[in-house]
Amino acid sequence: MEIFRGLKWSDGVHCPKCNSLSIQNRGVQGKTKRYSCNNCGSNFSDLTGTTFANKKLPMGEMFYILINLDNKSIKRLSEELGHKWESIYNLAKDFRENLAEKTKDPILSDEVEIDEMYQSAGQKAVENRRFSGIKNP
Ligand SMILES: [Zn+2]
Repeated sequence: MEIFRGLKWSDGVHCPKCNSLSIQNRGVQGKTKRYSCNNCGSNFSDLTGTTFANKKLPMGEMFYILINLDNKSIKRLSEELGHKWESIYNLAKDFRENLAEKTKDPILSDEVEIDEMYQSAGQKAVENRRFSGIKNP
């Protein structure tokens, strides 16, 4: 959610209606922050105007589905996450239709660089380095 917020609000949290940067925090709903606009009074959240708005699944699971959309089947994803096939299917359909077309979406239009990534396959290399460090301080 922090990463999402960083992308979504890269130029500051602003009102989706009037673009005002004068906003107030209105607490959190789950991991989503809520805001209200001091200029026009509209209420919005981190998810307002994104494909992730008004979905029942947690952000983590939605990202997981999104990332695995092309390499795992709907059946597999529904089994892994313990959701109905229909739920995953509808979400996947939604992602495909919306994210593919809306190139203005900050989530997928910008290039995302990851500084560090940990994978279980890389663990061995890390340990080897640590052990060799002990032998040769
Ligand atoms: Zn506003």
